[in-house]
This record gives sequence, C-alpha cells and structure tokens, in this order.
Amino acid sequence: MMNLSSTMKAYGCRYCVSPLKQLLHTTNHHLRFRPRSPPLFSSSFNNLKLPNFNLLLTYNSLFFTTEHLWGRSGMNTNKKMVEHLQQYGVISSEKVARVMETIDRALFVPDRTPAYADCPQEIGYNATISAPHMHATCLQLLEEKLQPGMHALDVGSGTGYLTACFAMMVGPQGRAIGVEHIPELVASSITNIEKSAAAPLLKKGSLSMHVGDGREGWPECAPYDAIHVGAAAPEMPQALLDQLKPGGRMVIP
Ligand code: SAH
Repeated sequence: MMNLSSTMKAYGCRYCVSPLKQLLHTTNHHLRFRPRSPPLFSSSFNNLKLPNFNLLLTYNSLFFTTEHLWGRSGMNTNKKMVEHLQQYGVISSEKVARVMETIDRALFVPDRTPAYADCPQEIGYNATISAPHMHATCLQLLEEKLQPGMHALDVGSGTGYLTACFAMMVGPQGRAIGVEHIPELVASSITNIEKSAAAPLLKKGSLSMHVGDGREGWPECAPYDAIHVGAAAPEMPQALLDQLKPGGRMVIP
C-alpha cells in the first residue's frame, strides 16, 4: 500500500533532454507525489505538466556549460571536484561536502578515467558511474533521511560509490545496502569500497553489497528511510514503495 507521507523524487537525465527542457529544468520544480500517478518517464518529461508526482528537475543548463570546462580543466583532486560543486551551488550541505571529500571518486572509476570530471564514466558491462553532480544532488535530496542510524537502499549500485557515501552518512549504527544485478560489478564495487574510507563499515556489516534484481528491493533490511534508484524504471516498482518507511524518501528516475 502506498504510503502517503512518503516523498518521491525523480530526476531528469540531462544527457537525454532537449535544450528547451534544459532551460525549463533550471526552474527546479518540486511537486507532490500522489498515488496512482502515471508512469514516471519520458512521457511525463515530455509534456511537462507533471501534476502528479514530486519531481526534481536538475540544474541542466548550468552543467551543460560547466561539464565541458571541467573535462578540460585541471580537475585533478577529489577535493577540487567538491569545491567546484560547492562554487556552482550544487552542494550547499556541509555534510554532503565532507562525505564526498572522504570517499575518493578515483577509487571507483577504471584506471585512466578522468575521475573528477563532471560527467558519467563507463565502468563496463554497459553501465556507467553517474556524474559527480548527480551523486551530489541525490545525497542532498536524501540527506534528511540519511541521518545516523537510518537505513538506506541503493538500487543499481554499480561502482558502489553512492552506497559508500550513504554508509558514511548513516554511520555504523545505520544500514546501507547496495543491490546490483551484474555480479561482476558487485564484486568490483566491494573491491572499490575496501580501498575507501567506508572499508570499516563494510567489514563491520553496516554496509553490504548484494547481487539481485533491484526491482525487488532488499526486504531483509527493510523498511528504509531512503531509497535511491540509479537506473531508469518504466513504472514505479511496487516492492520499493512497500519497503519505504512512513515518511521515508525515494529518489528514482
Ligand atoms: N549509481 C551507480 C550506477 C548507476 S548506472 C554509480 O554511480 O556507480 C545504473 C546501474 O543500475 C548499473 O550498474 C546497472 O547494471 C544497474 N541496474 C540496472 N537494472 C538493474 C536491476 N533491475 N537490478 C539491479 N541493478 C540494475
């Protein structure tokens, strides 16, 4: 049963929208989710009436410009990447900035990849690690539901970067679960996390990575305060709604 007090946020992919949509996206609308809304997706983004769900429209116009500059600039440290996200107003939360400084993105991307450029990077198996501004945006949207001791689920965990950030935010008393359907990516995400500041949490068990179909969520550690979905869903997965706590929050494209 859908929980009316839960909030849901969908984010548009700036690599898929038209320039007009990019312009409109800068207005950053927030609309409330209501049950029985139409499927979240391209049709919704295309007509832009969007009456029925809580939608985050990201800062596409701004990043359309900045990502190109970043790719060529000397963006060579994790700290600089975070500082730029702060300068451009993507990160306003100190906590999110600290977490993104602590989890070095370079540990999560393949060798010889420009780790700190603000664009998605290929990680094999037809998958990508999301752009830094996307990670930052998701962390900020979910921050309230990533307090120490809370439970977070990262569906489509890929490299494990965002799951590691979640784990740092909810701390050793919380739970951060990553679910990814490609076993090789789950294995490499564990290797990545083991090199990162989140390694002790993985060892202790408050952070865990699993092979599975993310549409089913991960019922063993439900209900969740925060659910992030990193892959597009043609319709709202009911299992994920069922695993969201009253007052919980889901971010889903
Ligand atoms: N957020 C991650 C990866 C984003 S790409 C990161 O930034 O590193 C989306 C990921 O979702 C891919 O790794 C893809 O393999 C995974 N995925 C797609 N469909 C899935 C499903 N049904 N269940 C679990 N994972 C899925």
